[in-house]
Amino acid sequence: MTEEILKLEHVSKKFHDLTVLEDLNLSVKRGEVIVVVGTSGCGKSTLLRCINGLEKLQAGRIIFEGENIDYDKNLSRLRQKIGMVFQSYELFPHKTVLENITLAPLVVQKRDKKEVVREAKELLKKMGLEQKADSYPRELSGGQKQRAAIARALCMHPDVLLFDEVTAALDPEMVHEVLEVILNLANQGRTMLIVTHEMQFARAVADRILFLEDGRILEEGSPEEFFEHPKTERAKQFLQKFQYEKRKSLVTT
Ligand code: ADP
Ligand code: MG
Repeated sequence: MTEEILKLEHVSKKFHDLTVLEDLNLSVKRGEVIVVVGTSGCGKSTLLRCINGLEKLQAGRIIFEGENIDYDKNLSRLRQKIGMVFQSYELFPHKTVLENITLAPLVVQKRDKKEVVREAKELLKKMGLEQKADSYPRELSGGQKQRAAIARALCMHPDVLLFDEVTAALDPEMVHEVLEVILNLANQGRTMLIVTHEMQFARAVADRILFLEDGRILEEGSPEEFFEHPKTERAKQFLQKFQYEKRKSLVTT
């Protein structure tokens, strides 16, 4: 686990006058699982969107597999290797689950149809969705939709997976089934950057935690370091809020 797959150097991102990411530096090794936490609005989604080339940077650069991601030159090629899954699934409503998964491999990567369909069905099986290949997204539960979205990302053969609060819109009983899938991917050695508010999951899955505050990395360390020995007042406050919510849920249930 030594090869560097992704590097952010002095990355700054602004929306008009608002600085959302400020001089951010980060190095990700192949096989590493990084969990990004922080209060709402601190820049977590923007960070993932910048890595996926959905946002133009104001300063700095992002290097993926040794290549500088260039919005105009190599983005569409490199983006195929960077899978992203969002909170809101983003499945095409008028296409079946199987069509959703095979669309980009066929159209963008121009791969062989037989081979792609075979792989998509295999992925669906792994996600426990083999019965749902011909269903439409509206016929699926939230957890099933999110697992289909993960299968779709995997069918592109990405080298890095980005997850942005993929369980935030799910009913509590469906959160677990999706986190389980992500844990399995971590165990298979996938490189992942995960934004989540599920702190127990973060602790279990992460090699490294990044605590973001106002677009800067305020703390960075192993899950044990971060959860047991947070260094900054801000991180302590952030974690206390989760402690409080955990206690509150014990009282009310
Ligand atoms: P997080 O995911 O940590 O909640 P975001 O990265 O979504 O935070 O947003 C960080 C800040 O950037 C917020 O203040 C948000 O309002 C602002 N922001 C995000 N996207 C845009 C945009 N497209 N235009 C203007 N402001 C934005
Ligand atoms: Mg967000």
